[in-house]
Amino acid sequence: MIGKVFLVGAGPGDPKLLTVRAHELVSTCDVLAHDELVPHTILALAPRRAERIRVGRRARGVRHHDARIHPLVIERARSGHDVVRLKGGDPMIFGRGGEEVDELRAAGVPFEVVPGITAALGAAASLSFPLTHRDVASAVTLRTAHRADPAKDSGETLVFYMGLSSLPSIAASLIAEGHAASTPALVVSNATRPSQRHVLATLSTIAARARAARLETPAILFVGAVVASAFVPAAARTLRLLRTA
Ligand code: SAH
Repeated sequence: MIGKVFLVGAGPGDPKLLTVRAHELVSTCDVLAHDELVPHTILALAPRRAERIRVGRRARGVRHHDARIHPLVIERARSGHDVVRLKGGDPMIFGRGGEEVDELRAAGVPFEVVPGITAALGAAASLSFPLTHRDVASAVTLRTAHRADPAKDSGETLVFYMGLSSLPSIAASLIAEGHAASTPALVVSNATRPSQRHVLATLSTIAARARAARLETPAILFVGAVVASAFVPAAARTLRLLRTA
C-alpha cells in the first residue's frame, strides 16, 4: 500500500510552538525529511529508528533541484512508508509547499498539510507586539526579499478576515482598484472544523455564490491566483507557466 506524505510546519524554532498534530507526527514517524532550518531540539523528537533525510541546498546525498520535492520522499511513500516532510514555520508561507503539493498530486501520492506558526507570528509574539491594531494597522503584509524573477512582481494573495457580510463591497472595490474580475476568490467558513465549507468563485461572482451557499461565520476570504491551484491542478500548471513566462 502507498504511504502518505505529511507536509508539516515546525513553527519558528521553539519545540513548544509545534502544533499537537505536528508533535504527534514527528514523534511517531518512520521517515523524517526535514529542512536545515528545523532545529535539533525538534528533530530529536523523532524516534531513533526513523530514517532522516536532509533536504535543501546544502544537503548532501541525492541531488535534486531544491524547488522540487526530494525524490526519496516519493520513493519512500511508494514503498508504503508514511513520510513527515518537516519545514520551518508554515509550509505554505515561503516554504515551497505549493510546488511540493503539485508534485505529490502529479505522482498520485496522498498527502496532508499540517500548518505551523510562521516566523512573523512567532517573532511578534515573542516581543509581545500585535501585527494588527485597531488604531494603527489594518493589514499585515508578508513579503519575500527573494523573487523568482526580480524584474517581475509575481502577484499577491489577499486575505480578508471578518469579511463575510461585506463581500459585495470588498469585491467591488478590488475590481475598481484594478484587480481582474476573473481573479479567483475563495471563502472558507468554519475552517478546520467538522462544519468546514467553502465556495470558490471569482471576484465578480463570489458575493452571490457565497450568499447562495448560505455560508456561515466565522469565514475568511482569499483572493489571488494561488487559491484556484488547490482545486484545479491545471491551474497550478498555468501558474507555473505564468511564473516562467
Ligand atoms: N516557511 C517559513 C519561512 C521560510 S523562509 C515560515 O513560515 O516561517 C526562511 C526565512 O524565514 C528566514 O530567512 C527568516 O527570514 C525567516 N525565519 C524563519 N524562522 C525564523 C526565526 N526563528 N526567526 C526569525 N526569522 C525566521
